[in-house]
Amino acid sequence: MNEMWIKNIENISINNEVGECPFCCSNDTNYCDVEVNNGYGYEIIWCNNCKNACHISRIKITAQSHTNINIPKDLKF
Ligand SMILES: [Zn+2]
Repeated sequence: MNEMWIKNIENISINNEVGECPFCCSNDTNYCDVEVNNGYGYEIIWCNNCKNACHISRIKITAQSHTNINIPKDLKF
């Protein structure tokens, strides 16, 4: 359900903040960029409160990317 997270994807691109969870309105959200190869990878955005999450494939990894964040194991995609 990536479309639920469109506002959050926009927030990240503007100020590197996920903002309010679109499911439970919690601000306890986070994201992580994972490099797979050659400067490209995927991004996981999630809510620590309700565990809803979204996976975005084929993003470019840059120096501003939010890497090395622990991704919770019990996320719901
Ligand atoms: Zn939530």
